[in-house]
Formats: sequence, structure tokens, C-alpha cells
Amino acid sequence: MTQHTSILIVGAGQAGAMAAAALRGLGYGGRIVMAGGERHAPYERPPLSKSVLADAGQDGKIGVQPASFYADQGIELRLGACVTALDAARHVAHLADGSAIGYGACLLATGGNARVLPALPPGTPHVHYLRSLDDAARLREAMQHVGELVVIGGGFLGLETASTAAGMGLKVTLVESADGLLGRALPPELGAWLADRVRAQGVTLRLGCGIAACDTRDDGVHLQLADGSVLHAPLVVVAIGLTPEVTLAAGAGLALHPQNGGIQVDQRCRTSAEGIYAAGDCCSQYQPLFGTEVRLESWQSANEQGRIAAASLLGVAAEPAALPWFWTDQFGCNVQMLGAAHPDLRYAWRGIGAHDAAAPKFMLLGTRHGRLSHAIAVNAGGDLRQLRSLVGHDVTTCLARLCDETLPLRQVVREWQAEAERSITL
Ligand SMILES: Cc1cc2nc3c(=O)[nH]c(=O)nc-3n(C[C@H](O)[C@H](O)[C@H](O)COP(=O)(O)OP(=O)(O)OC[C@H]3O[C@@H](n4cnc5c(N)ncnc54)[C@H](O)[C@@H]3O)c2cc1C
Repeated sequence: MTQHTSILIVGAGQAGAMAAAALRGLGYGGRIVMAGGERHAPYERPPLSKSVLADAGQDGKIGVQPASFYADQGIELRLGACVTALDAARHVAHLADGSAIGYGACLLATGGNARVLPALPPGTPHVHYLRSLDDAARLREAMQHVGELVVIGGGFLGLETASTAAGMGLKVTLVESADGLLGRALPPELGAWLADRVRAQGVTLRLGCGIAACDTRDDGVHLQLADGSVLHAPLVVVAIGLTPEVTLAAGAGLALHPQNGGIQVDQRCRTSAEGIYAAGDCCSQYQPLFGTEVRLESWQSANEQGRIAAASLLGVAAEPAALPWFWTDQFGCNVQMLGAAHPDLRYAWRGIGAHDAAAPKFMLLGTRHGRLSHAIAVNAGGDLRQLRSLVGHDVTTCLARLCDETLPLRQVVREWQAEAERSITL
């Protein structure tokens, strides 16, 4: 095991907390300092657009680790401590309060920031962005005083926020510049199904409508849409994506991906600079399943990369990353996905739920040249788990049976496995 005298983790979020725990789990006894710009100990972000937005009682229940964990494990947690520069040659981090921290090795787990709509920058009255626990608390408070909400952005975050707000009794309008919902993450047919469901639950969708102009007034924001119509919004949430937080990495001269902007890391989370590693939403990594480098913005990826970065920091082997997995909860649907969407995939349905059913249950299987690359389960997470061993493999011979909902999935998967073993033996 490599024995660094100390390890500095910049960013006290999901990936940072996971890496710190993994370092101790692997037996590292040296100094670990975790510097986090927020005033909260590491917490889970997924509940921010779901339970936390609806219920202030959840705020204290979303820690990545129990509150006593860091002290118990001898991890120096410095909160409200923003690192402003990294001197990669001297192994020193400079903080906003003027102090400096020397390190043997450093992990950047700096996450990202909500992408800003230039016409409605953060701080605009009546306008909210949602990335942190403090953002969620401010939005929740504002939602108590209005009856209507306009959400800009039809991605996962915008839809979850719309769903939670509708559940709290607000009249919600969601504006999306693309013609469908979740165009990059879901096949168009599922995006269309979801749009019907969202409408059935009382949310007004304005698809194919960009924001042409905004005018902030005392009583809210007047949004002029690209089709010329005007929406009056007492409260607006902008949810148009994420930009990776790479200021330190760029300042230290680390390689960044030219398109997605993330810190480039190899399969072991090593950056282009000796002794500096990166994990989570801030980084860009080659994904064998997609055949390209991507920035995965997901809870699971942050955990996996945190785990792998910890092993790499110590020079020990780690299990390879699990298949990409993502979930979202919205409009009465728990949607889980294995793998990822690609424009070339052809999707087949296993079952079909009525969009206005209380708990529709079905799956979509996305294949390319017969190979299963993307599996999506709506209220069928248990079934999705059964498919894990098939993702990345040719399922041509069993696709029709996988999609026949009268057949138990477990049985079809077992048959495929037996067939695959037979062909290896032959
Ligand atoms: C509202 C919301 C809902 C989500 N829902 C889901 C979901 O349903 N399913 C799913 O899979 N994923 C979901 N995600 C995504 C998931 O939470 C993120 O992918 C995950 O949190 C990324 O972890 P991270 O450690 O990379 O970044 P973060 O958790 O963002 O942590 C990064 C931390 O670094 C700090 N930092 C940055 N720069 C510095 C610096 N210079 N000095 C000190 N500290 C710094 C930041 O303040 C932040 O606290 C959601 C995210 C949000 C915001």
C-alpha cells in the first residue's frame, strides 16, 4: 500500500465522503483532511428535489454518514472551507481564509454548479436554482407563499421539482425548449408517455418553447416564450443542467475534456497531474459501455468513483466500476435505468402501463446490433436487477421472450445464461 503522509479531499459531498470512508476501510491510518465549501457535513442530494423539498423535517436525515462518523474515524472535516487554489508542484492547497494545507496526495471531488440561464442569474428576485441543501430550504420556504410555480427545464431535476410541487398543491407549468421530455436520457416513446402522465397529473407542459425574454417585477417574473406567449410566474425554478466545478483543476493545469468540460481521469481516477485524483460529477471518464468519455452525473457514479479513487490513492486494486445505474422518482413512478441511452438504440417494451394508472409497471429494453445497452424499469426495480447480467451482451435469441410479460423474467434470464454457458463450453 502506498503510504502518503496525508490525503486532502476537496469537496465534502457524495464522492468525497465515500472516498474518505473507503480510505479508512482499506486500512489507511494517515491524516485525512476533507475541505468542504458548504457549512453542512456531506449529505445526499437526491432527496433535495423530493422529500426534503416537501418536508423540512427531512433536512437532518440525509447525511451520507452518521454525524459522529468523521470524528470517530479521525477524518478532519473542515466545513465552510473553500479551497481557492492548488499548487500541484508543491502539494499545497490554499483556502479562502488565507490558510494553507499541505498534502501527500489530493482528491478533487468538487461536484458541479447549476447551469445558469443568463437572463435569470442566481439572485434574481423570485428565481431559484436547486443544487444544495440551502437552495432546497430557500425554495421550500418560497413555495409556502405562492400558489403557482414555473419550472424551466424538462430534465430529471425539473420534472422531480414539478412533481413535488404539484404534490404540495401548487399549480405548476413546466417550460422546455426541446420538443419532448428527457430527450437525451430516454427514448422519445418513453418521453412522450411521460409527458402524457405529467399532464394527467395536472401539470401544464410547454414543450418546444424556449425563453425569449424575462422581465422581473414586484409580483414575480414575466416570461416571454419563443412562441410569443407570456407567462406570469410568481416563483421560478431554473433546472437546465449542471456545469462541472473545475476551477481548481483548470488553475492547476489539469487536463479537461474539450466537450464536456470535466476533469479527465483514467479508469483509476487519476488526473493528468501526479498525485491528484478526481471523482464524481466533476470528472470525465471513458465508459466502455458507451465507447466514449462521459461525465456521469449520478449518485451511483459518485459512490463508485469515490471507492475506486480511494483504492487508487493507496495503490491497491479495486473491483471495477459497476454498470451505470440511475433512478428518479416523479409523478408516482420510480424509474430506474441500467446502462445509458444512445440515439442508435432500438427499444422494445415489456408490458405497457396506462399513463393515468396509479402505479404503472413496465420496462423498455434498448439494443444495438442485438446487444442490450439500456434497460429502463418503471415501477419495476426488482425486475431490472434480474437483467444486470445481460447488459452489454447479445440478447437477440431471447429478446422476444424478455418482452413477453406472461413469462417470468427470472426464467428467461436463466435460460439465456444456460445457453451462454453452453456456447462457451462448445
Ligand atoms: C436536487 C438533486 C437531485 C438529484 N437526484 C438524483 C437522483 O434521483 N438519482 C441520482 O442518481 N442522482 C441524483 N442527483 C445527482 C447526485 O446527487 C450527484 O451526482 C452527486 O451528489 C454527485 O456527488 P459529488 O460528490 O460529485 O458532488 P457533490 O455532492 O455536489 O459534492 C461536491 C461538494 O464539493 C464542494 N466544493 C466544490 N468546490 C469546492 C472547493 N473549491 N473547496 C471546497 N469545497 C468545494 C461543493 O460545495 C459540494 O459540497 C441529484 C442531484 C441533485 C442536486
